[in-house]
Amino acid sequence: MRLEELSEKSVLKYVVISLLTIMLTTIIVVISLNFETLKNNFFDRQVETLTIIPPNENDILRIVFTGVSTPLTPYIAQQSVVLSINNKNYVFDAGSRSTANFISEGSLEAANIEAVFITHTHSDHIGSLGELILASWARGRTLPLPVYGAGKEIQNVVDGFNLAYKPDRDHRTAHHGQEFFVPENGLLQAQLFEVNENELLIFEDENVQVFAFNVPHGPIHGSVGYKIISGDRSVVISGDTDVMNSYDFINGVDVLIHEAIIEPVSTAVSQSAKRLGNERISEIFNDINDYHANLIDYEDNPGLLSRLEGIELGLLALIHIIPDKDNVIVKRALKKFSSQSSHDVVVAEINMVISLPLNTKEIIIK
Ligand SMILES: [Zn+2]
Ligand SMILES: [Zn+2]
Repeated sequence: MRLEELSEKSVLKYVVISLLTIMLTTIIVVISLNFETLKNNFFDRQVETLTIIPPNENDILRIVFTGVSTPLTPYIAQQSVVLSINNKNYVFDAGSRSTANFISEGSLEAANIEAVFITHTHSDHIGSLGELILASWARGRTLPLPVYGAGKEIQNVVDGFNLAYKPDRDHRTAHHGQEFFVPENGLLQAQLFEVNENELLIFEDENVQVFAFNVPHGPIHGSVGYKIISGDRSVVISGDTDVMNSYDFINGVDVLIHEAIIEPVSTAVSQSAKRLGNERISEIFNDINDYHANLIDYEDNPGLLSRLEGIELGLLALIHIIPDKDNVIVKRALKKFSSQSSHDVVVAEINMVISLPLNTKEIIIK
């Protein structure tokens, strides 16, 4: 075809194709010449995202909920609350699956776990201890991990996890070398205490003071809650407990993290299970009512609502909710409680973060 036979449209088409070919060739040449650099940059960004924890802003006490559920909702991580300040982390309970959330949350350095505080030895509060020490050890902790708890049972729990994970420690030490994976740093170390008075100071460092207090969660001996003070901010974690007789001792705290049961719903589940012939489930849902904290007064039993009346709180965060917090009836009950409560109420979700900047009154929920 001669040039004069080409239409204007065809000329435009050839020009576009030529330009695209030149651009494509240029891109291929540039990529080929810089392939190693581009590839390395890509990998560096991915590895950075997965492994580097950027430093957090100092002097902000952060509460990170890495586990919020109970044995009755096993598909959600069971109870664990991390308090984090100045890039040091303090773990309160380590329920199953919670370590995965600790790692995936992205702002918590497992090597910088200063201590673990156990409220009691029910499985939904200790199930992830083995994964937690492994994560902390692998990330480079330089000491055994202290595990605080009331009563001798904590020693058994720690000894049991250390024994169960011994083969794992041996294999990793043999593979990576003793100097790199120092065996002692992969151990949990029990720190036992007994609370005989109202509150007992059990831990103190440059960031936090941790006090323990007894809570009614019989028949378990040594069920405690914790009050954490950091500068001028304070947090109380109830652990598992029936409604306490008095909450005067927490008056003025910034955040109360309290467990909850919706007793009318739990009772209805028990009755329904009985009608359906499942006596075991009926019995379990009946039994659990007496050692968890009902929200609203029910059949002459005082609820958290009336017991917290007159207590000054910055925020009430409900956790460990029975039955499942995502059930529509429970959601309605939680809404009713929130609307009747004189306090600001939030229901803890996985990896929800509550920030308390020191020397302020701010409470930021994300
Ligand atoms: Zn529990
Ligand atoms: Zn319990």
